[in-house]
Amino acid sequence: MTGSDAATYGIDIGGTKLLALRLGGGATVRAASPRRREDVIAAIRNAVSGSEPVAIGVGVPGLVDTGGVLVSSPHLPGLAGTPLAALVREAWPDAAVWVGNDATAAAWAEAAAGAGRGASDVLTVTLGTGIGGGIVSGGRLQEGARRFAGEWGHMVVDPHGPPCPCGQRGCWERFASGDGLGRLAREAAYAGRLDLAGGDPEAVRGEHVTAAAAAGDAGALAVMQELAWWLALGLANLANIFDPEVIVLGGGLVDAGEVLVAPTREVFPRLVHAGDQRDRIRIVPAELGSGAGAVGAALLASAMPRSLC
Ligand SMILES: [Zn+2]
Repeated sequence: MTGSDAATYGIDIGGTKLLALRLGGGATVRAASPRRREDVIAAIRNAVSGSEPVAIGVGVPGLVDTGGVLVSSPHLPGLAGTPLAALVREAWPDAAVWVGNDATAAAWAEAAAGAGRGASDVLTVTLGTGIGGGIVSGGRLQEGARRFAGEWGHMVVDPHGPPCPCGQRGCWERFASGDGLGRLAREAAYAGRLDLAGGDPEAVRGEHVTAAAAAGDAGALAVMQELAWWLALGLANLANIFDPEVIVLGGGLVDAGEVLVAPTREVFPRLVHAGDQRDRIRIVPAELGSGAGAVGAALLASAMPRSLC
């Protein structure tokens, strides 16, 4: 990398870590996320040093409005209210700038250059601590009127279900996320259907279950089946609304692999409307890993046509 060539950068500011990459190659930069608004530009400047940016895309974990203001961010409370797009434009007035939600950016990356490439209608569902995602419909990223679309973790699937930090009860992410897996597993352990973590039900975590399921433990496989049913239920609700060609599953929970994805594919046609009559909707793991948010932010900043991806 020389100091004079122009470059497009994607930066994913996570709850704890920042990841930056240069589109088309070059070193990936990893650093701590800025915690205060006065540190944001310095953090980005460190990440893009070496080449003059012609485009900068920034993804953040929170709601970013049409003006590029980070309206709310439970994971980065010190940045809430920060006019991110305005700050980046002020620092790099000649660069094209995109600032938005990290899961939205990741969804675009998977649709344009990852597991959904070639399809015009792609939903991405990111299964982390909670559930996020994004919508590509008719080949275009759909962010909603205020750019808050794709927050399907808070779709209520059981109004009498467990409380969610958002204030509702029975949100989808209480059942089908990494947190949800831990809760389902502890329920199974208290009921005597699962024996992990030295027999202490309260100590059971999701990662115990995925490891035991991979080793063939019957109780753990049953919990994964239960998780898959809840996952498929939400996916069926989304498919009834959006009719996608492909649903891309991302996030840490997908590392569990086929013990989760296979039973989800199996039960999904029974939950989606007209599942035995419609063309099969492909359910596939994401391909771009933890770099998807940065890749998508860069692609969106460069406004690269999908045909060139
Ligand atoms: Zn919720």
